Amino acid sequence: MEPIIQFEHVWFRYQVDEPDPPWVLKDIRLNIDPGEYVSIVGNNGSGKSTLARLANGLLLPTKGRVMISGMETSSEQDIWQIRRTVGMVFQNPENQIVATSVEDDIAFGLENIGVPPLQMEEKIKNAVKAVGLEGFEHHEPHTLSGGQKQRLAIAGVIVLEPDVIIFDESTSMLDPVGRKTILEIMQSLNRRGKTIIHITHSAEEAFMADRMIVMHQGECKLDEATGRLYQEAMRLKEWELDVPLEIELWDRLRQKGWPLPDKIINKEELVSEIW
Ligand code: ADP
Repeated sequence: MEPIIQFEHVWFRYQVDEPDPPWVLKDIRLNIDPGEYVSIVGNNGSGKSTLARLANGLLLPTKGRVMISGMETSSEQDIWQIRRTVGMVFQNPENQIVATSVEDDIAFGLENIGVPPLQMEEKIKNAVKAVGLEGFEHHEPHTLSGGQKQRLAIAGVIVLEPDVIIFDESTSMLDPVGRKTILEIMQSLNRRGKTIIHITHSAEEAFMADRMIVMHQGECKLDEATGRLYQEAMRLKEWELDVPLEIELWDRLRQKGWPLPDKIINKEELVSEIW
């Protein structure tokens, strides 16, 4: 199977007014297969958003190549197809909302690519359903809650039927309920075959993915199935990442010489075993 995203020895630096701008990404080698659910974590400035922007051709590598379904992002001829293959959902949904009704907002991208009105209706209906905004089609976006706005932004992306969706800190402005809904949408999109990449500050959220990539100072420091990562999750602390409470507790168990379970058990059980 051909990877849907390939980074081949990618180096990147921004063109800034400095004689020798720093490398923001250093020798990134990465293959992501169709249908994977990958999280990317790392502290501020580690290069996560830059990596995401390289993955849909918003930025081009300074050195190396980024390939999307075999198309190189620096190819002018393929760039529109690449942008349609890799959709992005950002942190602040306000920046992605353009129209005065939910329905028109979702239609906007379709109009841009010239989808006939009859087909549009069906596609919009499906997108609205996928994010649970049925009944809100005629509402004005600014009357929606933060979580609903983010769901609208997601609908605007998925209506274009991208194979890959990158969520760049898309949960970080939301309350716990809004956050949970977005995480559920990610999981459901992944079950329906979409490749999901979730950039997040929360290790807890990151562990919901099947594979986790840790960025640190522009380098990809760790790239591992999350199931295996539980075994050594305390290493995340080396990169100043928050470690979920379950894992902290688990680590204390390990230090006490308890046998490790093969998967994380619930917090209450762990607490009762320690105290
Ligand atoms: P993260 O998403 O992990 O917080 P970013 O990819 O946003 O990291 O940033 C990586 C580095 O690139 C940081 O040092 C940041 O200051 C720098 N950077 C990000 N965007 C720009 C830009 N448009 N121009 C110059 N430097 C930038």
